[in-house]
Amino acid sequence: MSPLKDYVKKRRFDKTPEPRGKIAPRSQRRFVIQKHRASALHYDFRLEADRVLKSWAVPKGPSLDPADKRLAMEVEDHPVEYGGFEGIIPEGEYGGCTVMLWDTGTYTPDTDDVGKALRAGELRFTLEGKKLRGGWVLVRTGGRKWLLIKRTDAAASKTADITTEKPRSVKTRRLLAGIARDEGGDVAKAATGDP
Ligand code: MN
Repeated sequence: MSPLKDYVKKRRFDKTPEPRGKIAPRSQRRFVIQKHRASALHYDFRLEADRVLKSWAVPKGPSLDPADKRLAMEVEDHPVEYGGFEGIIPEGEYGGCTVMLWDTGTYTPDTDDVGKALRAGELRFTLEGKKLRGGWVLVRTGGRKWLLIKRTDAAASKTADITTEKPRSVKTRRLLAGIARDEGGDVAKAATGDP
C-alpha cells in the first residue's frame, strides 16, 4: 500500500492547489512546520523520512520550554512536495483555509534509522531551522498521540513564546491574513490565527 494513499484519498486535486505529489526517490533530512488555520488553528510538524513527510498536528505549536510538553497528533504521511506549499485550501475541501510556511530547515536525528525510531515511538533530533534550533524529542504516549518536547540546551527558553514572537511566513514574511488577502481566502477567519 502506498504510504500516500490516505493523503490522496482525503483530497480533490481538481479543487485544491495542494500538490498531488509522489513518493520521493530518496529522503533528505528536511523539516517543515506549516501554520494551518483550518477548522481549528494548529501547526503541522513534518519530518522527511521513508521518502515522505511524516506529519503531526500540534494544536498549540512548538514551545522552547522543555517543561512544556506539546500534544502532537500523528496524521497521514504527506508527499515531500507538500513542504513547499503555502496558500489557500478552498473552503469545503479537506483542511480548508490558510496555510503558512512557518519554519523550514534540516534536522539531524540521533539515530541513523528514523523510520525505526518512529515505529518504536521515540525520536530524538536536532533542528536547524530559521526559527527552531537545538535538540527536540517526539515521544508517543499512545495511539496517534505524541508529545513534542524541547530538550534542554542553549536554544531552550523558559520565557520566549516563539509562536507569538515570530508569527510570519519564512517564505514570504506574510501573516495568515496577508496570505488570505493575496490569494482570495477568508481574511477575517485567517486573521484569527495571527497574534
Ligand atoms: Mn493541518
